[in-house]
Amino acid sequence: MNETDIQAAVDDMLAELMQEGIAGSGDYIDADTGLLMCGKCRTKKQTVVKLMGRTMKPSCLCKCRSEELEKEEQKRKDKELMEGISRLKSAGLQDRTFFGYTFANCDEMHPCAGYAHRYVGRFAEFQKDGQGLLFWGDVGTGKTFLAGCIANALMEKNIPVLMTSFPKLLNALGGIYSGEKNEYLKSLNRYQLLIIDDLGVERDTPYVLETVYLVIDERYKSGKPFIITTNLSLEKLQNPADLEHGRIYDRIMERCVPVAFSGKNYRTGKGRANIESASGILKA
Ligand SMILES: [Zn+2]
Repeated sequence: MNETDIQAAVDDMLAELMQEGIAGSGDYIDADTGLLMCGKCRTKKQTVVKLMGRTMKPSCLCKCRSEELEKEEQKRKDKELMEGISRLKSAGLQDRTFFGYTFANCDEMHPCAGYAHRYVGRFAEFQKDGQGLLFWGDVGTGKTFLAGCIANALMEKNIPVLMTSFPKLLNALGGIYSGEKNEYLKSLNRYQLLIIDDLGVERDTPYVLETVYLVIDERYKSGKPFIITTNLSLEKLQNPADLEHGRIYDRIMERCVPVAFSGKNYRTGKGRANIESASGILKA
């Protein structure tokens, strides 16, 4: 074959590959190997396979196309993750205001912000030990806010969290047949962390106390961590008025590290109590 014939054969081959959709515009046949090359990244779009004495040239991905596909795959994964996170948040945050309780909106000067950050950062360890937190202190000291920051930060890591309150749980349980209540309580264990806001605001009736006990006891038995926020004092939690309160508080105190929240004087007053009560595990 002379050079013109070779050129014609190559042109024919290229035309055929274009017709089959394998070659794109700008692609060319490498003169030495006879393989189709990408016009953009100048790497192989065909490879050589020898099978039972026959030589075949199956197509393969050139560099730019395979990078393109990788990027598309990453984009799809990112989108899936974001959708998963927003599903987690709409299922896990039982109050619209909780959506705004994020570390991005957090005053890092808050004396308890560090505890919340460390809880998120070392969640795997706390999870293993079933270790939770007890945020206690006066109204308006940021307990719910920081608990919400923990909830949002964990869900952004794709960890299912439920942040609710006893009035909400009582409400949900009120609408369920007694035989199915246990199932409902067990279903809360699919959340890796359960946050119950504002213990102590619920009415103090035997039914309510029994229900609060069942919620806490189920979580306690599951060995999974929970966070409680409350306006009740640590003293009251440690010295319950009666057995009914005592069996609730005992389980909370056993699993949750108390963190004192205070509006002022936190450096000298309750802040010091934290250092003693946090059992070392929350310190940096
Ligand atoms: Zn290419």
